[in-house]
Amino acid sequence: MKKSLQAQLVATVLLAELLLAGGLLAVGRRAVFQQLRSGLNAALSGRALSVAALVRYPEDQSTKLVFDKGLVPQPLDSRYQDAWEVFGPDGALIARSPWWPQELESGLHLREGFWIVHAGGRELRGIRLNQLPILDEETGTPVSPASLTVLYATPTQPLEERLAATMLTIGAAALLLVLATGVFAAWLVRRALSPLRHLAAEAERISAQQWSFAAPPEAMRLHELRPLVEALQEMLRGLRQAFESQRDFVAAAAHELKTPVAIQKSSLQLLLHRDLSAEEYKRGLQQALRDVERTEELLQRLLRLARAEQAAGGATPPESPAVPLSESCEAALAHMRPYAESRGVSLEFVPDGTARVKADPDDLLMVWSNLLENAIRYSGREQRVTLSVQAPLGRWASVVITDQGCGIEPEQQPRIFERFYRGDQSRARDTGGFGLGLALVKTLVEAYGGSVAVESQPGRGSRFEVKLPVE
Ligand code: ADP
Repeated sequence: MKKSLQAQLVATVLLAELLLAGGLLAVGRRAVFQQLRSGLNAALSGRALSVAALVRYPEDQSTKLVFDKGLVPQPLDSRYQDAWEVFGPDGALIARSPWWPQELESGLHLREGFWIVHAGGRELRGIRLNQLPILDEETGTPVSPASLTVLYATPTQPLEERLAATMLTIGAAALLLVLATGVFAAWLVRRALSPLRHLAAEAERISAQQWSFAAPPEAMRLHELRPLVEALQEMLRGLRQAFESQRDFVAAAAHELKTPVAIQKSSLQLLLHRDLSAEEYKRGLQQALRDVERTEELLQRLLRLARAEQAAGGATPPESPAVPLSESCEAALAHMRPYAESRGVSLEFVPDGTARVKADPDDLLMVWSNLLENAIRYSGREQRVTLSVQAPLGRWASVVITDQGCGIEPEQQPRIFERFYRGDQSRARDTGGFGLGLALVKTLVEAYGGSVAVESQPGRGSRFEVKLPVE
């Protein structure tokens, strides 16, 4: 199932708001309840005092207290009856409300202050006040130290109802607010995510024919999206380069193969064209065989380069045990010596026993052989080619191959590592090179985390330096 980031964000906001509203409602309910209860407490005290004020000494000066029933206060809520009792100083009941639930008997057992009881089928909140004075009828001032005890209770139902009504109002308002802010949050989230949508739309347009990727300006302005856009652009650049280089490679390889195959075809056609002597056929077939061998060599080099590029494409360098650098150089020198002798070029070796690198010896041999082959190929007779292994410096060990040959024009130097690139010298002398040697050297060296650089002066010679990380 597809998940929507927008829906998740809105759901998170709504959930957070609901939690907040729930928490606020709980706290609010407590505060409202306390407010209502302290209001009820004050009303209960007032009613209890009013009831006590109705107790008088009779005018005939007798000690028996009387209760003025005519001025009994109204119940706190008109829908319910309140219950009350007044006791004299001697503990005798002076008066009692018409509604006094049986369960309460004489309420004197109820403790002083506020209390809650269940009686008459409902919950009652009440108060018991002790030692209330008996007031003068006219002045309202205490006339006797003798004290009264008053109990006054009222059902809590109206308080509960008021609490419920208040909470309903607050709850409904909270829900409305949550809904309104939810809609607003959804709109905001949609707006905030629009750069992502634009980015996705722009990314969707990328194809092998359409590499351009114009990052939406609103995405570039966003702190969180900018690194993503930059990573995307960087990745695209790399992909485009890889794609184009693959395409060029295939095109160039096809082009390079076309010529020798065409030559072979025309030589064979020529052989068939007219009757020839056995000797002529033999010569013709030998030529065709040489052409096939050269094509085979080209194919082998192409395959070697393709394999090296595949290995270099890996995230980590190929894992190999550490080998002494000098050993692979010596092997390459031995391999190239016959070629050097055939061209009258002398080979010099300056070894260093300390340098060891983690690389496949066959790959190293390939690198030095290609560089030596070029150095010999582009040198004149009696000239010297030197291979020197340098003692490691920091993380790097290097091998330098120097020749005194024709050198490379400065404008050609940056291009000589490209595949199929052949310099003027190569073409002019028809060296038979394919323009793949240095590309292979670069690919192999870089696969091991190293680098290759050239310094050259036309007419004075070239210097190739390969740097490889030491173990
Ligand atoms: P090639 O098979 O043509 O030698 P490379 O990839 O090995 O292909 O070299 C590319 C080009 O670089 C060569 O065609 C040549 O022009 C130039 N080059 C390479 N090495 C040397 C060198 N030691 N001296 C002069 N030119 C060189």
